Amino acid sequence: MIRVAVNGYGTIGKRVADAVAAQPDMTLVGVAKTRPNFEAEQAVANGYPLYAAIEERADRFAEAGIELAGPVEELVAAADIVVDATPSGVGAENKELYEEHGVPALFQGGEDADLVDVSFNARSNFDAATGADAVRVVSCNTTGLARLIAPLEEAYGVEKVRATLVRRGGDPAQSGRGPINDILPNPVSLPSHHGPDVNTIYPDLEIDTLAFKVPATLMHMHAVNVTLEDTPRTAAVRERLTDESRLYLIPESADIDGTGALKEYMLDLGRPRGDLWENGIWRESVTVEGADLYLFQAIHQESDVVPENIDAIRAVTRETAAGESMALTDETLGVGL
Ligand code: NAD
Repeated sequence: MIRVAVNGYGTIGKRVADAVAAQPDMTLVGVAKTRPNFEAEQAVANGYPLYAAIEERADRFAEAGIELAGPVEELVAAADIVVDATPSGVGAENKELYEEHGVPALFQGGEDADLVDVSFNARSNFDAATGADAVRVVSCNTTGLARLIAPLEEAYGVEKVRATLVRRGGDPAQSGRGPINDILPNPVSLPSHHGPDVNTIYPDLEIDTLAFKVPATLMHMHAVNVTLEDTPRTAAVRERLTDESRLYLIPESADIDGTGALKEYMLDLGRPRGDLWENGIWRESVTVEGADLYLFQAIHQESDVVPENIDAIRAVTRETAAGESMALTDETLGVGL
């Protein structure tokens, strides 16, 4: 069994912790938090040993009636691998702790690429993470783009990617990001950081990205144009993308007109937290004009990186084939629509 610690138990950390607990080859040794709140209470209710990320604040947990298992150092010492899901930049501060204990670590997309040995997407470069000490599971948007590029590159060759990202202003619980009522070119200068981030996985890919922020919380939306080396028919590309378990081609018959209906569908399916782990690609939007492919895809920022974290754990800690790991992750979580 792979013993996994999760340091940082917020939006991403709590989802990764649940996903680890669902794996037959992994044990969740515990989670670490900085302060008591409803998520800390829920971690204990789930039976996850809870550790204090900042020892001086341990008293606050006692005052809130929440029992701690110990300081984060003990959690790290007991693990084969740590998933750091702390806010952007905090992972870099924590790296030394993991190195002191000789424990490999996964970081999230908010950290700089040069913090780690490998930036990771399971479908694109699983093997590159084998035996690495520090791996970055790329951001939700980069994950969504990489998952799409992988099968297109394999089947048709990719000459150039152009993507416009309409980014949610904040996650549903991030009240501090709002209220807002605006559309912000973000960043104003080109390219946005997303293209260069995709290049951490596909170094030779030509990709330009530009991005907006809008007052939405549910998901991001990408308008993508990929110039292919071949000129396949639209129907063939639709079929090719349908074969990918982490791409959900939304059929016209579903009558899903946007991210609200997509989220509602995930809730109706009974998925935890209404999560959409797959890229949500509108099937009718997949159109080829000459060598140019166009499509719209929705990216659920809170959850698409969760299966990728699980695969990254296996890539780092044991000899598993990418396909085998992804299939196990998909089966245990219920990924694939
Ligand atoms: P979050 O704020 O929801 O959760 C972070 C948690 O870490 C919080 O519980 C916070 O209290 C805790 N924390 C703060 N300092 C800590 C410390 N020193 N030690 C341990 N825990 C600490 O953040 P998030 O949205 O889960 O983001 C985590 C990482 O995942 C970031 O790198 C982010 O860029 C990345 N990411 C976020 C999203 C998203 O949309 N939310 C998507 C993909 C990747």
